[in-house]
Amino acid sequence: MKFYENETSINNKFLRKRATRAYTRGMKHKAICRKKALDSQINDKNNPWYKHDGQYSKGKIRCNCPICKYSKHYNVPSDKDIAEKKYVKQAIEEYYIDITETAEISA
Ligand SMILES: [Zn+2]
Repeated sequence: MKFYENETSINNKFLRKRATRAYTRGMKHKAICRKKALDSQINDKNNPWYKHDGQYSKGKIRCNCPICKYSKHYNVPSDKDIAEKKYVKQAIEEYYIDITETAEISA
């Protein structure tokens, strides 16, 4: 059922209604408050992560240096990756065991 004459126009970003400036400002404030609260929990108030509040809205409050993100920077597999690899290996072995068993029965 069609609600609009041209349904593709809803997905067209040029025809779609924009959010009001007040709404956008509110969302930005929300993001700033969240990141500022996280920052205040870790860093002391005299030495914040950003100098101005507006920087919190788009900025990231984490570190990407090779010391903090060692495993990502040097492609070291995580515990989850190792467990997944082990599971896949076991599944493949079981699969081939099943194939050989069915081949022996049919032969
Ligand atoms: Zn770092």
